[in-house]
Amino acid sequence: MTDRELQREWMVEHQLRPRGIEDPRVLEAMAEIPRELFLPVDQAAAAYEDAAVPLSQGQTLSQPFMVAAMSQALQLTPRDRVLEIGTGSGYQTAVLSRLAAEVFTIEYLPELSRAAVAVLRELGCVNVRARVGDGSGGWPEEAPFDAILVTAGAPALPASLKQQVREDGGRIVIPVGPRTLQTLYRFVRHGTEVEREALMDCRFVPLVGEEGWRGETPE
Ligand code: SAH
Repeated sequence: MTDRELQREWMVEHQLRPRGIEDPRVLEAMAEIPRELFLPVDQAAAAYEDAAVPLSQGQTLSQPFMVAAMSQALQLTPRDRVLEIGTGSGYQTAVLSRLAAEVFTIEYLPELSRAAVAVLRELGCVNVRARVGDGSGGWPEEAPFDAILVTAGAPALPASLKQQVREDGGRIVIPVGPRTLQTLYRFVRHGTEVEREALMDCRFVPLVGEEGWRGETPE
C-alpha cells in the first residue's frame, strides 16, 4: 500500500465508520478516490485530515465525514441520476460518480469548475456533466432527478429543486438555516408532499443566486 492508500484506509476506519457511515459503496468510493488531487497543491498534505480544507476564492472542500454523510443520506442506487449544486473542488462529485449512473453538477465560479472538470477527467469520471452558473434553480432541462445534493447553505429549500426530484421518493439533501450555522436536511418527495428529516448541524459557505442568498456573491 502507498502512503496515500494507508491514509485513506485510516480515514475510513477512524473518521467515517465510527461515526455511523456504514454504506459499503460510500466507504469503498472514499477509500479509493485520491482526495489530494482536488486540493490546491499547498493544501495537499491536509487531504486526509478530519477537517474542511480551504479552496481558492473563499470556498471550502467539506470534511471527509460530511462528504460521506451527505453521500449516504442520498441513498443512491447504481441506476440513479443525481444533481449536485456546488461542484467546488469536484471531490464530492467524484464520490457521487461512483455511486450513481449519471452526475450533473453546477458551479457558480468558472475557475473552480474548470479545475474540477480537469481532475474528474484525469480520474476517468466519464458519467459527470458539469455546467457553470447559478444552480439554485436546479437544472430543469435534465429533470427529474432521483436525488439532488446541495453543498452550500441555503436560507430555505428552493422551490425549483422540489419540482426537479422524482415524485415517488426523490431525495434532496441540503443544508438550510442562517449563514453561520445550518441543519443538514433530507427531504423526500411523495407526490405533492415533502417529508423532512433533520440529520445534523453543519456549517457551509452560502448558496448564492436567485433561490439562495440573493444579491450575495460567493467571495
Ligand atoms: N462539494 C464541494 C464543496 C464546495 S463549497 C467540494 O466537494 O469541494 C460550495 C460551492 O458551492 C462553492 O464552490 C460555491 O462557489 C458554490 N455555489 C454557491 N452558490 C452556488 C449556486 N447558486 N450555484 C452553483 N454553485 C454555487
